[in-house]
Amino acid sequence: MAENYDVIIIGSGPGGYVAAVRASQLGLKTAIVEREHLGGICLNWGCIPTKALLRSAEVLDHANHAKDYGLVLEGKMTADVKAVVARSRGVSARLNGGVGFLMKKNKVDVIWGEAKITKPGEIVVGKSSKPVVEPQNPVPKNIKGEGTYNAKHIIIATGARPRALPGIEPDGKLIWTYFEAMKPAALPKSLIVMGSGAIGIEFASFYRSMGVDVTVVEVMPTIMPVEDVEVTAIARKQLEKRGMKILTSAKVTKIEKAADSLTAHVETADGKVQQITADRMISAVGVQGNIENLGLEAVGVKTDRGCVVIDGYGKTNIAGIYAIGDVAGPPMLAHKAEHEGVVCVEKIAGLPNVHPTDKGKVPGCTYCHPQVASVGLTEAKAKELGRDIRVGRFSFAANGKAIALGEDQGLCKVIFDKKTGELLGAHMVGAEVTELIQGFVVAMNLETTEEELMHTIFPHPTVSETMKEAVLDAYGRVLNA
Ligand SMILES: Cc1cc2nc3c(=O)[nH]c(=O)nc-3n(C[C@H](O)[C@H](O)[C@H](O)COP(=O)(O)OP(=O)(O)OC[C@H]3O[C@@H](n4cnc5c(N)ncnc54)[C@H](O)[C@@H]3O)c2cc1C
Repeated sequence: MAENYDVIIIGSGPGGYVAAVRASQLGLKTAIVEREHLGGICLNWGCIPTKALLRSAEVLDHANHAKDYGLVLEGKMTADVKAVVARSRGVSARLNGGVGFLMKKNKVDVIWGEAKITKPGEIVVGKSSKPVVEPQNPVPKNIKGEGTYNAKHIIIATGARPRALPGIEPDGKLIWTYFEAMKPAALPKSLIVMGSGAIGIEFASFYRSMGVDVTVVEVMPTIMPVEDVEVTAIARKQLEKRGMKILTSAKVTKIEKAADSLTAHVETADGKVQQITADRMISAVGVQGNIENLGLEAVGVKTDRGCVVIDGYGKTNIAGIYAIGDVAGPPMLAHKAEHEGVVCVEKIAGLPNVHPTDKGKVPGCTYCHPQVASVGLTEAKAKELGRDIRVGRFSFAANGKAIALGEDQGLCKVIFDKKTGELLGAHMVGAEVTELIQGFVVAMNLETTEEELMHTIFPHPTVSETMKEAVLDAYGRVLNA
């Protein structure tokens, strides 16, 4: 007889496993189904291993600028790419094991295999179509296997996979997705990165630090197109200063492959086509939801542009079926997935005062060098929405800590509603801004105003002082510039 659960979650990425932990905390009998790797893309192929790679890049960059800090390094420090990749895979493996531990600790049953919804309240788990290839990410022990399982509530948390452009499909050899880019056997001498969203620009930054000749091709007029243009202009200048070539309003139209290199035909805004030859190309043109082979059509779950349609609590149009994380649409970020998982499960458990996920307050971080981070509206978006705004800015060049760090190229920019003083958006580029942005996220979540921020004491000397100064600048009260 099929085993009964309160909640079954399909997919153990940050959306799924966090939802499972919370469901168990709330006393719901919970199982999670996974076909490939505990922790999903985030822990195994996304957020975490890229940050490990970028940390190696950062250490290398610092070492190669040792002289700037009065330090002497005999010769040039170089990267052992195999060891860099091994470290990154090791970090992933440690966290993958951590998810297994969390499932056990929270008494969440792990079911190994590929899940399909056969009807509301029932799933069938079959053989995985994705064999585990990573020796460091083994199938956990004491798990359940193929069969039929029942649950009052089924949460789809199946994530996303790389999107491909027709005619420029990744082949795993010359054209990489993030999977191949994450563990190169050797460094290419030259690399084209198609797409300058967070994933593309992080890999471009990593490979550039490793000494690779990198060309970024972006179809939009600015890199990191969702970010504020003022911030991305500074980031672009810094990336170019590091030797990265960047083409914007430019489109890869054709690829010609040779034995161990490729030539990209790149059409620029003026209609001219230039040919760029490189050893490898990374296709980073976005991701698409994993909605296939889940039985969604048969059950009648509504999808739109490759994602499951949900309300603010993760509910689909079919009672008892929910979706969270990347498969439920943008922004496709791990913290959005986690938050949606918690909201969804708390609503299922009938907790009072559960607020729907507010996508306008999801921060975005890009860990290239220099880092970029933001929350809320860009200046252009605020204007487009007809908001009457006040804008404040503070340059890192006037911040003592940034200068002491040797990282004085950066900006903090804030956008307030002129009438109410509501903080509408914050945008940062420079050292450690991915850690700092959370200050503004908390402020926005508490619906703070300029007055409260101006009366908040920021520690000195820290780069966070740029945040207060930017707020003061919006009201003509800047102190250190
Ligand atoms: C290179 C890269 C870098 C990134 N960096 C960041 C970052 O710095 N910060 C950030 O916030 N986000 C980052 N992301 C995005 C982040 O990884 C995703 O937003 C996040 O993983 C989404 O979580 P999820 O739980 O929705 O899905 P996933 O993490 O994709 O997990 C889904 C899981 O479901 C499983 N699954 C799918 N179908 C089935 C099925 N039928 N049966 C059983 N199991 C199934 C999959 O095997 C997978 O393990 C990055 C992504 C990439 C690719």
